[in-house]
Amino acid sequence: MNNQLVYDLIIIGAGPAGLTASIYASRYKLSNLVIGKTLGGEISLAHKVENYPGFISISGLDLGEKWQQHVEALGAQVMFKEVGRINIVSKTTKKENLAQSSRVFEIEINEQEKYQTRALIVATGSERKRLNIAGEKEYMGKGVSYCHTCDAPFFKEKTVAIIGGADSAVSGGVHTAEYASKVYIIYRKDELRSEPIWQEEWQKIEGSGKGETIYNTNVIEIQGDGTKVTGVKLDKPYKKSDSVKTDGVFIEIGSVPGTSLVQSLGVKLDETGHVVVDDNMNTNIPGLFCAGDMVSKSAKFKQATLAIGQGSLAAASAYQYLKKQSAPSIRGI
Ligand code: NDP
Repeated sequence: MNNQLVYDLIIIGAGPAGLTASIYASRYKLSNLVIGKTLGGEISLAHKVENYPGFISISGLDLGEKWQQHVEALGAQVMFKEVGRINIVSKTTKKENLAQSSRVFEIEINEQEKYQTRALIVATGSERKRLNIAGEKEYMGKGVSYCHTCDAPFFKEKTVAIIGGADSAVSGGVHTAEYASKVYIIYRKDELRSEPIWQEEWQKIEGSGKGETIYNTNVIEIQGDGTKVTGVKLDKPYKKSDSVKTDGVFIEIGSVPGTSLVQSLGVKLDETGHVVVDDNMNTNIPGLFCAGDMVSKSAKFKQATLAIGQGSLAAASAYQYLKKQSAPSIRGI
């Protein structure tokens, strides 16, 4: 148990927002620790990132590693653990003969392992949406996947059905076609709505006969033989059959903001479930800042480039907050 040291700042989330926040915090001379589940967060699932300035093309995993190296070069630690809960405790410290009582956040990994901090940035991104249909849970990891970037290589010369119709689904179709012999995109509407560049790539794959889009159709069941996926059942016939044979099903239907940790603190959410932050990334709880895919400002545009700006701003705001609270503890002031 580590409840002696109180960090200036703990950042929960090791994606673009969280890691950028740490880079800025270190330069503000704030003692800081990053605790995250996955390096890079959602971008680690990106097969190719081609809209991040400075890199014409880079994998999400490589980008995450570069961010981690940058954070560590500035002296902060990135710890890969799952936070169990956040508690708010009040702490009395004696500085320059003055007793001060201030808000401290306690980050609980489990009963034995807890970390304390005077300011907290939560940048826990978003979580993949489930279809909640028969067979989905049963065949998870046995053909059902939520990450084409991670799992497409396992479907070499096999058939894959991708569900969804926006950027993840269509870029996923393009990526998966590098391995699979046949890729279906099954979309509930009549026109794909991904970036034009992905649609162009996908049309080429359709033109080659390797890709097929099934429009205006929902998958209502994932079928299998008890050990692996064998097909998907459709809500309307396609080529006179109500099912499509497939070895894999990639569910790429978006995500929900990862707000479960902050909800128990009484953080204000908007009607879409994203955390409400002001222009400086302050939440309604003093000392708690949020950034990245989980905040209302990202509801319509979940991009690493946006998360990075929010992460830097959250760190700057945390610095201002700490300065107001008790400047002497901030190194370098
Ligand atoms: P989105 O939320 O943008 O799209 C989800 C897709 O899944 C939509 O087509 C939606 O249908 C469909 N869908 C949602 N729920 C269901 C359901 N229950 N049944 C069937 N279909 C469903 O998620 P993405 O993951 O595609 O993208 C998230 C963010 O990440 C976006 O901002 C995107 O731009 C970004 N991104 C960017 C990439 C890039 O290369 N630039 C790559 C991947 C993601 P409908 O259209 O009917 O709403």
